[in-house]
Amino acid sequence: MNIHEHQAKEILKEFKAPVSNGIVIYSKDEIEDKISILKGKQYVLKAQIHAGGRGKAGGVKLIKNVSDLVSEAKKMMGKILITHQTGPEGKEVKRLYVEEASDILKEFYLSCLIDRESSKIAFISSTEGGMDIEKVAEETPNKIITTKIDLKSEGPSKEEIENIISIFNFDESQNNVASKLVQSLYKILIEKDASLIEINPLIITKENKIICLDAKMNFDDNAIFRRPEILKLRDLNEEESAEIEASKHDLAYIKLNGTIGCMVNGAGLAMATMDIIKLYGQEPANFLDVGGGASKEKVTAAFKLILADKNVKGILINIFGGIMRCDVLASGVVEAAKQVNLSVPLVVRLAGTNYKEGKEILDKSNLKILSAADLNDAAKKIVEAIK
Ligand code: GDP
Ligand code: MG
Repeated sequence: MNIHEHQAKEILKEFKAPVSNGIVIYSKDEIEDKISILKGKQYVLKAQIHAGGRGKAGGVKLIKNVSDLVSEAKKMMGKILITHQTGPEGKEVKRLYVEEASDILKEFYLSCLIDRESSKIAFISSTEGGMDIEKVAEETPNKIITTKIDLKSEGPSKEEIENIISIFNFDESQNNVASKLVQSLYKILIEKDASLIEINPLIITKENKIICLDAKMNFDDNAIFRRPEILKLRDLNEEESAEIEASKHDLAYIKLNGTIGCMVNGAGLAMATMDIIKLYGQEPANFLDVGGGASKEKVTAAFKLILADKNVKGILINIFGGIMRCDVLASGVVEAAKQVNLSVPLVVRLAGTNYKEGKEILDKSNLKILSAADLNDAAKKIVEAIK
């Protein structure tokens, strides 16, 4: 789960990390009431969407006075912001954050994440702040330090912290602040079950202050049940409506941009199915794993999800019956296809437990279902059918 920058900064503040004062607003009319809390000569107006790259897309503006702030907020609120992280459809701005502006001397990068490969907590620090860290890693890897820390309750050691912040070349008092920040990030990661905390940029101001100027946090969905205070920060406006619907039915669904809807049991099989669709020259419309023991209800819900996507021109169902019996699935498919008035070609490939019985149910259903002998055949047939 992702949260907004202003929420991430609240959490940083709670853990004693340095952030600027700011106010969040949901309508431009709130500005004049709330602005008096802020000091400083200038403001920064920041679109709150779950995507980075706002600066380059006009979602971060430096502003000189309150009247400009009101007029700029009016323009920014409701705007569809397209950044390199939103996809071409962009995201509508529904809330804004106004911060006391900082006078930047230099921008840095600091993040903390779970490194699955080593089962450690990795800190990434770099002198290149405000840039895409992937680009820095590719082009100037010498400007990045990765420090991996064993999971331990007392947090990173003195030496590890020194290693993380060494690249910043700070003086002694700045190093003290940075060390505390590293400890705070580690603590947030552990105590809030975050999987990523990214401060980009971390800055030093001309007044020699260290500030987390931007903040991104991701949380582990599997641990959210024990962090109700984090779940409260969820913003459904930022999530794909089909994905919200899918989570209600416990379906793992990710919308993609192709034309062939897929329903598969098992994540690995779903990936293989998407690959083979691409091999035959088409693009999958979604990733969808119905899980091991999908019921009729689940299959119906999955069907409706796939068909709600207007790009879908055909559906490929690929089931390997292990725990799941193919005849149960076939009955579910037939029932669902009738309920939703299926109007696009459907190819079904069944293998494993009771596949013969399953095939018989499909053949007798009078629905226009093409059955396939194997995965290759299935992909070929659906690509052919939507032509
Ligand atoms: P992002 O583009 O979505 O990552 O948004 P950021 O919050 O990182 O802001 C983008 C850029 O705007 C930063 O890298 C800074 O260069 C600039 N910026 C943000 N806040 C301030 C500020 O308080 N003062 C100044 N001078 N620039 C800022
Ligand atoms: Mg940023």
